[in-house]
Amino acid sequence: MSETKIALVTGANKGIGYAIAAGLGELGYRVGVGARDQVRRETAVEKLRAAGVDAFGVPLEVTGAHSVTDAAELIERRAGRLDVLVNNAGISGDAGPGWAQDPTTLDLDVVRTVVETNVIGVIRVTNAMLPLLRRSTSPRIVNLSSSVASLTRQADPDIEIGPIMAAYSPSKSFLNAVTVQYARQFAGTNILINAACPGLVATDFTGFYGPRTPEQGAATAIRLATLPDGGPTGSFFEDDGVIPW
Ligand code: NDP
Repeated sequence: MSETKIALVTGANKGIGYAIAAGLGELGYRVGVGARDQVRRETAVEKLRAAGVDAFGVPLEVTGAHSVTDAAELIERRAGRLDVLVNNAGISGDAGPGWAQDPTTLDLDVVRTVVETNVIGVIRVTNAMLPLLRRSTSPRIVNLSSSVASLTRQADPDIEIGPIMAAYSPSKSFLNAVTVQYARQFAGTNILINAACPGLVATDFTGFYGPRTPEQGAATAIRLATLPDGGPTGSFFEDDGVIPW
């Protein structure tokens, strides 16, 4: 089996996903750049290669069943296995003024689209990639979540958690809950799965608002993607440590 570790990052053409791909590449991983748009994907792969990363493009629309099975087949052909899966692709859904999503007036189609991408997309990709991950000696799965999904923090009036986001926040709480289910299912195996919050990062996602760079936002996900055997699983992390559910 090749010594070089293989990673797949979804939504890796820009933002935090691109920074995770670059960071893993710098650590010597061969990186599949999961991206749904051909031009954006090829541009990102070229940029990563110019930076010395062993990158290859993986056409990947996380809401598309065929796209996801095709992506698994491509990785099977190109690499034969997968060591790291970073489920990074995500959307906020339409936000109103001040980034708020008011639950009392929420467009149900927005809820469906956000859950389809942020939750069902992650399950779809994870399950398609599992046969390849099981061939690794140290499989790691990282789900990009958000501290705004923490029910504990949302229930604490002393914590400033940002605007009400009635589609996005629950989608990431759902994703966290799914992460725990996977961790329970993987108990006794060498698969480690965790959720990561990148902090508030200036990307397209936030309209480039936020104090953190994509590289800073990528750090926790990269740490969880490269955990040693016996590391934590079924938990939720930010730079400062564990986030309460
Ligand atoms: P960006 O909007 O910059 O990037 C999102 C990426 O996801 C893009 O590559 C986008 O592709 C891709 N994507 C979206 N939907 C799909 C889909 N259906 N199929 C495949 N790819 C898709 O966001 P960020 O980099 O800021 O966010 C990355 C992750 O981090 C998200 O999960 C987000 O929820 C999370 N996060 C971000 C925070 C922040 O402050 N930025 C804070 C907390 C969490 P395309 O270019 O084609 O649209």
